[in-house]
Amino acid sequence: MPKEQSLEPIASAEVLAVGSELLAGETRDTNSGDIAGELTALGVEVMRLTQLPDEREVLAEALRAALARVDLVVTSGGLGPTPDDLTRESIADALGEELAVDPALEAWLRELWARRGLPFSDVNLKQAWLIPSATAMPNPNGTAPGWWVERDGRVIVALPGPPRELRPMWQDHALGRLQARGLGLDRAAVTLHLTGIGESALVDVVGKELLEAANPRLATYARADFVDLRVSAVAEGDRNAASLVEEAIVALSPRLDAYVFGRGDDDWQAVLAARLRGRRLATAEVGTGGYLTSLLGAAPFLAHAELEAATEADAAELAADVRRRAQTQVGLACVARAEGDDMSVAIGLDIEGAISEVTRSAFRSGDAGRRRSANAAITELWRRLAG
Ligand code: AMP
Ligand code: MG
Repeated sequence: MPKEQSLEPIASAEVLAVGSELLAGETRDTNSGDIAGELTALGVEVMRLTQLPDEREVLAEALRAALARVDLVVTSGGLGPTPDDLTRESIADALGEELAVDPALEAWLRELWARRGLPFSDVNLKQAWLIPSATAMPNPNGTAPGWWVERDGRVIVALPGPPRELRPMWQDHALGRLQARGLGLDRAAVTLHLTGIGESALVDVVGKELLEAANPRLATYARADFVDLRVSAVAEGDRNAASLVEEAIVALSPRLDAYVFGRGDDDWQAVLAARLRGRRLATAEVGTGGYLTSLLGAAPFLAHAELEAATEADAAELAADVRRRAQTQVGLACVARAEGDDMSVAIGLDIEGAISEVTRSAFRSGDAGRRRSANAAITELWRRLAG
C-alpha cells in the first residue's frame, strides 16, 4: 500500500487557452474568464491567463513555466483529432512522458463511429492517447476526452475548447476531482460600489499605503457608471478571511461612507428603493439622452407623468412639476448642457415639498457626459434621501 499522503490544498492556478484562432482575434477567449471566475470563487488565486498558438514547443514551454509557478494548470483547446491540436503532445513533452493509445478509449471511439455507421479513420486515434500520469475525463458532447494529470503534487486539467464541451466536463468531471484533491484556501472578497468620486481621487482618499497592502488587498476598477473597490483577504493565523475583509471595510468607512452606495449585486434600483422607504419617485431629464430613465430601469417605485413645464424651466421647477403631475412624494430633474469638453448638470429635487437645486459638472461631453450627468443626478438624490 502506498503511504497516505496529505497534500496541501490547491491554492494557485493558471489558465492556458490554446488555439491560434484566439491570437488571430477570430475567436474570443471566453473559457479562461469562466474558469478563472469559478476558481476564484472557490478560494484559488488565479495568477495568470495566457492565450497560446497551436505550436507544440510554445505550449510545452508555457506548461513547464506554469507548473513551476502554481499548483493547478487548466488548459482549454487543442484536444481535437487534427495535427494542429497539440495540447496532449505538449503536456507529454513538458512532463517527459510517452504518449500511447489507451485500449479502453480506443474501443469507446471506435464504438462512436460504428454507431454512426461511419468508417473509423486512424486520425482519430490521438484522441485515445494517454500518458502514465493522465486519466481521461469523459466528453458526452464531443469526441475528445479531457485529461486529468497529476504529477509531483501538481495537477493539469486539459479541457476541450468548444464551450459546450468544456463547461459540462469542468462541472461534472474536473471540479469534483479537484475538490476531492483539496481546492482553495479560505479567501473572501467584497466589492464596494462608489459614486461621486473618480479612481484617482479614490487613491487619495484611501491612501497609497492601504492600496499597496497585501492582506487584505484593495483594488480599484473604473466601471462605466461608478468606481469599484474590491476588498479581498486570505485567512491569516486564527483570523478567517471574511472577518479580515469586514474589518477593513469598517476601518475604511469614515473615509468612504460618503461615496459607497452599495456592494456586490446592489444596483441603483435596490439602493434607492431602500432609501425611498415606500415613497415613489418621478423623474424629468433634459439633455441626458434618456440615461436617467434607463439607469433606473423599470424600478417599481418609479412613476411616469407628462411634463407641463417648458423644457427651458430650471431643474428645481421641473422636479416640482413632475412630482406634482405624477403625484409622488419625490421628484428628481436633471438638466444637462454641454460646456466646452465637459457638461454642466443642474439637478433639481423635490422631496415632500422641500425643493432645491444644485449644479455639478460632469467630465466629458457627448454620450459619456450625458451618462455621467444622469449618474450625478441619481447620486445627488441618493445623498439627500439619507438626511
Ligand atoms: P479545440 O478543437 O478544442 O482546439 O477548439 C475548437 C473550438 O472551440 C474553436 O474553434 C473555438 O470555436 C472554440 N474555442 C476554443 N478555445 C476557446 C476559448 N478559449 N474560448 C471560447 N471558445 C473557444
Ligand atoms: Mg484548436
